[in-house]
Amino acid sequence: MPRERHPLNKDLTRRHALLGGAAATTLLATGTGTARAADTRSVDVDVDVAVIGGGLAGLTAARDLTAAGKKVLVLEARDRVGGRVVNLKLPNGGTTEGGGEFIGPTQDRIRALADDLGVETFPTYNTGKNVLYKDGKRTPYATDGLLGSVPPIDAAGLANAAAVQALLDDMAKKVPVEAPWTAPKAEEWDRQTFETWLRANAVIPSARFLLEVACTSVFSAQPRELSLLYVLFYIASAGNESTPGTLERLTETADGAQATRFVGGSQQVPLKLAARLGDTVRLSSPVRKVTRGAGGRYTVTADGVTVTASRVVVAVPPPLAARIDFDPLLPAARDQLAQRLPMGSIGKAIAVYDTPFWRADGLNGQVVSDTGTVRSSFDNSPPDGSYGALMGFIEADRMRANDGLSEAEVKAAVLKDYVTYFGDKAASPTGFVLQRWDNEGFSRGGPVAYAPPGVLTQYGAALRTPVGGIHWAGTETSAYWCGYMDGAVRSGERVAKEVAAAL
Ligand SMILES: Cc1cc2nc3c(=O)[nH]c(=O)nc-3n(C[C@H](O)[C@H](O)[C@H](O)COP(=O)(O)OP(=O)(O)OC[C@H]3O[C@@H](n4cnc5c(N)ncnc54)[C@H](O)[C@@H]3O)c2cc1C
Repeated sequence: MPRERHPLNKDLTRRHALLGGAAATTLLATGTGTARAADTRSVDVDVDVAVIGGGLAGLTAARDLTAAGKKVLVLEARDRVGGRVVNLKLPNGGTTEGGGEFIGPTQDRIRALADDLGVETFPTYNTGKNVLYKDGKRTPYATDGLLGSVPPIDAAGLANAAAVQALLDDMAKKVPVEAPWTAPKAEEWDRQTFETWLRANAVIPSARFLLEVACTSVFSAQPRELSLLYVLFYIASAGNESTPGTLERLTETADGAQATRFVGGSQQVPLKLAARLGDTVRLSSPVRKVTRGAGGRYTVTADGVTVTASRVVVAVPPPLAARIDFDPLLPAARDQLAQRLPMGSIGKAIAVYDTPFWRADGLNGQVVSDTGTVRSSFDNSPPDGSYGALMGFIEADRMRANDGLSEAEVKAAVLKDYVTYFGDKAASPTGFVLQRWDNEGFSRGGPVAYAPPGVLTQYGAALRTPVGGIHWAGTETSAYWCGYMDGAVRSGERVAKEVAAAL
């Protein structure tokens, strides 16, 4: 393979190579398109900072480092930017989201980024009643979110759920978001699963049901999989420097994390950011190896390009970072941390209809269910309601049960659920799209890499601690809105400051 050396900012040939050629330019412009083979020409590039991962975290880091006058190259494995944020084309020509979609109050950094890029927002459709489907009975009810108002369950269950919610919020206030492992009761809370705690506290079955649906909806993991300390950290993280996090903010639509959507789809944000960054983003370049050489410079080897850099920012989820070969080996604590943070299991199923027919029935498209493949859903129609789109989450155990099925099998199961929740009209969509994150090679699940018991207290300190010139970003490293787009942006801003100060 011939290798040419291209000094940065030299000429159009280099620009073409960095972007992976015309194919990459097209994909940056549209955000969709068919997958293309990586540019097989191998080039060498020298920069100050190599950023691994072109999700919101990596792109934000590149924006700030470039603004600080550093030479940066973002290496993105996929043929598109955005990572866990992706727009999907619908058969009717519309756009919907396959990954991160909603933003809400206190998510200040994603909001500021979107404003800066001119990406407009609109309120999530939230007019009308939710549907509770429980014990084979369908009950529309007026509320907001899973726990926000009064779901039609027994009074004892409601009182128990409210008390548990208040207790969780109270305990979360004692968890420092920058270092949850230093909470006074960190050891005690990290040695039990959220399920163990729920069994002891959500003692009324209907209350436990509500808390369990909240858990799978927020984490796409079952209560048995999560450390109680991690759940408390996540609640604490759902706020900002002046507003403490609450469970309600995680689960609610109006005034919560599901309040607002982006016009044109959430991937507009990373697409526009990458367009601004231009030739500092190289697509179809999965990083395979990071080597520290004599003099402390790093060699980052990706398909089609070898980059030398003084600093490396790893902006991929921890389990994906563990698939990169580091030489010399990373410290044991860092590697074992990455071994122990699994991705949740998640998919989205979007059925498209000529009209959002459920609105005429007084429904807002949101469901809480104790059965089925889809157990929570949203109205994903465009702002003008010119067609209808029902988006159903497939989460945790449900997703795992569906990972190996054909798309036709998943579609049949999802539509059966939609008919149960919204009536016979749901049986005949004009289009259907399915996004299964567990089967995506450069995500392997979502929405977040979560901590089972024992991980935060033993390994948490390694989450953000740089290893020589290697720095860690990604939503999982964020103190606020960990697991969300806002957390990804915050992590990019934090790591850029860290690197700029070190260079
Ligand atoms: C179904 C789903 C629904 C969600 N809903 C919401 C929501 O409504 N609101 C919200 O705020 N958040 C939501 N999220 C979470 C949100 O999408 C993520 O928190 C955020 O996008 C993470 O950004 P990131 O940059 O940290 O990581 P990622 O987006 O994962 O970016 C990492 C990038 O690194 C790349 N990569 C991986 N390995 C390599 C390698 N070896 N070399 C080079 N590149 C590599 C990947 O391709 C990817 O582009 C959701 C996520 C999912 C999956």
